[in-house]
Amino acid sequence: MSFDYIIVGAGSAGCVLANRLTEDSDRTVLLIEAGGEPDPRLAHIPGAASWMQNSRADWAFSTTHQRELFDRRIAYPRGRVVGGSSILNYMVYIRGNSGDYDQ
Ligand SMILES: Cc1cc2nc3c(=O)[nH]c(=O)nc-3n(C[C@H](O)[C@H](O)[C@H](O)COP(=O)(O)OP(=O)(O)OC[C@H]3O[C@@H](n4cnc5c(N)ncnc54)[C@H](O)[C@@H]3O)c2cc1C
Repeated sequence: MSFDYIIVGAGSAGCVLANRLTEDSDRTVLLIEAGGEPDPRLAHIPGAASWMQNSRADWAFSTTHQRELFDRRIAYPRGRVVGGSSILNYMVYIRGNSGDYDQ
């Protein structure tokens, strides 16, 4: 079996890229994801993001000991699921200041 494109990671970027590439039906695309399907009951609720952390949808990374933070290790959640980190994010949206882009 062969494909024109192989995308590793069905997160925010991977899903958008796969969607755009398959707009041309002549292209074949394989999208590979390490995690499984998200829980649909939680995935669309902004406030549910914290419940998804440390679940099977989270890689549950942690930083190394941070000297500047009293030697603590800090939780570093990243999505491990179809949809990636967008499944466990807070859906906060901030519109960029047009002046910043112009500059
Ligand atoms: C807790 C949290 C809260 C956030 N809140 C907000 C917010 O409110 N608003 C906002 O705009 N942004 C927010 N973000 C940021 C936003 O969600 C991310 O910037 C964005 O989802 C990153 O997209 P990405 O495609 O780069 O990576 P991801 O969406 O993380 O996708 C990477 C994908 O690749 C997969 N993968 C990794 N390695 C492999 C492998 N070897 N094989 C197969 N698959 C693999 C992962 O499982 C994952 O699904 C938040 C992020 C987190 C973690």
